[in-house]
Amino acid sequence: MIQNNIRNVAIIAHVDHGKTTLVDEMLKQSGTFRSNEQVDERVMDSNDLERERGITILAKNTSIMYNDVKINIIDTPGHADFGGEVERIMRMVEGVLLLVDAFEGPMPQTRFVLKKALESGVKPVVVINKIDRPDARCDEVIDQVLDLFIDLEADEHQLEFPVIYTSAKQGIAKYELNDEHQDMKPLFEMILREVPAPEGTSEDGLQLVISSIDYDKYVGRMGIGKITRGKIKKNQEVVLCTAAGEFKNFRVSKLYNFQGLSKEEIDEAAFGEIVALSGNDDINIGETICSTDKIEPLPFIKIDEPTIAMNFIVNDSPFAGREGTFVTSRHLKDRLEKELLSNVALRVEETDSADSFKVSGRGELHLSILIETMRREGYELSVSRPEVIMKHIDGVVHEPMEHVTIEVPEEYMGIVIETLGQRKGEMVNMITNSNGSVKLEFKIPARGLIGYRSEFLTDTRGNGILNHIFDGYAPYKGDIKSRLRGSLIAFESGTAVTYGLYNAQERGTLFISPGTEVYEGMIVGENARAGDMAVNVCKRKQLTNVRASGSDDSMKLTPPAIMTLEQSLEFIAEDELVEVTPKSIRIRKKLLD
Ligand code: GDP
Repeated sequence: MIQNNIRNVAIIAHVDHGKTTLVDEMLKQSGTFRSNEQVDERVMDSNDLERERGITILAKNTSIMYNDVKINIIDTPGHADFGGEVERIMRMVEGVLLLVDAFEGPMPQTRFVLKKALESGVKPVVVINKIDRPDARCDEVIDQVLDLFIDLEADEHQLEFPVIYTSAKQGIAKYELNDEHQDMKPLFEMILREVPAPEGTSEDGLQLVISSIDYDKYVGRMGIGKITRGKIKKNQEVVLCTAAGEFKNFRVSKLYNFQGLSKEEIDEAAFGEIVALSGNDDINIGETICSTDKIEPLPFIKIDEPTIAMNFIVNDSPFAGREGTFVTSRHLKDRLEKELLSNVALRVEETDSADSFKVSGRGELHLSILIETMRREGYELSVSRPEVIMKHIDGVVHEPMEHVTIEVPEEYMGIVIETLGQRKGEMVNMITNSNGSVKLEFKIPARGLIGYRSEFLTDTRGNGILNHIFDGYAPYKGDIKSRLRGSLIAFESGTAVTYGLYNAQERGTLFISPGTEVYEGMIVGENARAGDMAVNVCKRKQLTNVRASGSDDSMKLTPPAIMTLEQSLEFIAEDELVEVTPKSIRIRKKLLD
């Protein structure tokens, strides 16, 4: 059966190519709005910060009625991807609108996301926007899109993509440039014709995969996803198939679909439709909801693991917070918990201090976006420097690895290869594109990427694109030497690991440089400034193999690169010890002799 009155499409666009204007115009012209209702200037991505960084972070649903067909439009992050978000969005749709500026052409920043869309097999429709621009060069831009699709190894059927020309600003869409159309009708028609209607059956048992999470203070946690089979009713008893493989029955308390920009309560929906439902506060992204008579979960979409952690700490100054709002640890905790509802690749843990929370995410960019968003909301907080999350596998310390994809004009290739090499990156692929740019792929320890993004932007004068995805854990690779001035010992379940860390002077948190004699209190444990201890220990033991060298070369600790807590105790004089617990050692303030 085909659900002919529904079309589900995702929209992919480089920032500023006109996505917001286009969706606004579609809403206006479809009559989704009553005539007296004003369309908000920015419907799709309201977050200023996303705009500044040239990315959209959260997928948002909009739906438009056209000739009795419901078109669900889902926003897709144009460039970054945190934790497999794009794969999840692609599960909800049958087609994707690739929106491209008629002068600028397809931008490399969208490549990564587009590749994932094409891999998922959805039908692309290419929308060439801003055709009213005097410098529009539509034919060339279409050729560039074709080259890009070939380069991204699109399927043959995807290479025969339909093209539509639009001026979102003027509210016009055309099949051919010299058509006389004065409205967006051709775009609606094109979507109806080219994007396959969802296929399935409403007779069989319900199956629905949760692709995103929403939260409403009255309704609670809601799961959003596409019904892939059967139908769902309000008050129906259903089964939640969890990531852990459990089956949990619950009753659907509220059911919604999307109409225009809002959610509307409904009693029933059938396969092909995208719905939001409440009734179970434990619902998670990637889980399947089934009817009780046919429990068949779909494969779980893996959410990339967090690899970088930072402590978010309440700023305890009485002047903290804007407009007199004093941020307490309770505020901070509530805010972080709210974030967890929709930011799936994020983890939050309490720490020994009530004022500090350990927040882990998919890299520095992921966490820094959250920090800036919170600061704009008025949360005054301090954060610790980022640290990678290590793991013990078979008694060996493992560290998270990332697969990095970089695109740069050829002239910057050398500096990128050199710098990532120093950061223990291993080049695994290099492709020269036809347009004078190169694509480089590396495998690199996640810690090698700490602080790299800004260096990369400087090195490539803003002309480079950097993406990374989690690539599993690998045995710890030893110090990273280049441009590093610090060193750190982190303790995890009784084992200390020494590794180099980024530029201590710039970050200002790590207190190590050659000739440093005076030590502040040294706390060795999860929040260790433990490089201090490394130097201390090695100096006292006169370990000759240790170099604590200057400016641009890191201190290199040879023996012992890895030591257990017990072993490290041997290096500490009794009068220095303050406290020893199974997980940490605390050392007294000390003047080195
Ligand atoms: P988004 O970042 O993709 O959501 O892009 P916006 O919709 O915010 O548009 C970015 C800029 O391009 C704005 O200044 C729009 O007015 C302008 N714009 C959007 N569509 C068109 C168009 O069809 N023609 C022209 N000339 N400008 C457009």
